[in-house]
Amino acid sequence: MKIGFIGLGNMGAPMAANLAKAGHEVTGFDMADVAIEGVTMASSGPEAAKGADVVITMLPNGQILRAVADELIPAMDKGAALVDCSTVDVESARAVAEKAKAAGLLAVDAPVSGGVGGATAGTLTFMAGGSDEAFAKAAPLFDIMGQKAVHCGTAGAGQAAKICNNMILGVTMIATCEAFALADKLGLDRQKMFDVVSTSSGYSWTMNAYCPAPGVGPQSPSDNDYKPGFAADLMLKDLRLSQQAAEAADADTPMGQMARDLYALFVEGEDGAGMDFSAMLPRFEKRGRS
Ligand code: NAD
Repeated sequence: MKIGFIGLGNMGAPMAANLAKAGHEVTGFDMADVAIEGVTMASSGPEAAKGADVVITMLPNGQILRAVADELIPAMDKGAALVDCSTVDVESARAVAEKAKAAGLLAVDAPVSGGVGGATAGTLTFMAGGSDEAFAKAAPLFDIMGQKAVHCGTAGAGQAAKICNNMILGVTMIATCEAFALADKLGLDRQKMFDVVSTSSGYSWTMNAYCPAPGVGPQSPSDNDYKPGFAADLMLKDLRLSQQAAEAADADTPMGQMARDLYALFVEGEDGAGMDFSAMLPRFEKRGRS
């Protein structure tokens, strides 16, 4: 396939490289000066999009996506697919899909989980929203860049799935960290705490696969001085998106709201910026009740 790829940062660059490695003809564009093996660089987004079967975007946020999509859509051939893999607000995803549809294009919102490691290894999970035809067009590319793609529903459903998942993740990480900090104060050994919880009803992905206590459980960012991994800043972004969506949909999400506020304090008022999101544990360790 002829593929245009816009946004070649930490995630986009290895994703584009994997598509080129698989034999697709990839033309890329990024505002920054980047070079990727096997990818031809264009001098603008529309130039990269012209004549492409599929155009993929991997951008920082919904506002940038909307602006970039306004430039790309008129340059694309009718019947081509615009596939946005960024994490953005549900409203922007739906607005871009509407505009693409009106111009005779197929559109998919397909945010990912798996991080930079998954993007490099080609093991991302895609959660996709769009028509059956649009999903079918993008699916072979998801198979190259990832190991699983779930078609979640119509436009915006991929973003909805992503922010609901990450709201659970943020809340669960906080609960796991505060429980470890309480266990410390009760004199409970962390390994014993892990042995019990990881095989009891309190188990979770954050405990069992990404344990925030160094030296306990499988290797995780806590064993590497809490270097990300999944940065607390990105967790804050996703928690803000979930609260924005909850407000728009009139959904009561008190735990998600508290998680957003706590990560905002951690990242913007304390020393959490640039740390892994599991660094909530050393934060709680240092604190008392007030
Ligand atoms: P990044 O900042 O490394 O990359 C974004 C790229 O977009 C940059 O290279 C930037 O120069 C480019 N860009 C910005 N505006 C542009 C424009 N107008 N035209 C062309 N290029 C433009 O970010 P990232 O870590 O690659 O994340 C990309 C998206 O993936 C975000 O939405 C993020 O939330 C999501 N995401 C990231 C991770 C992760 O672990 N990094 C995991 C899952 C999802």
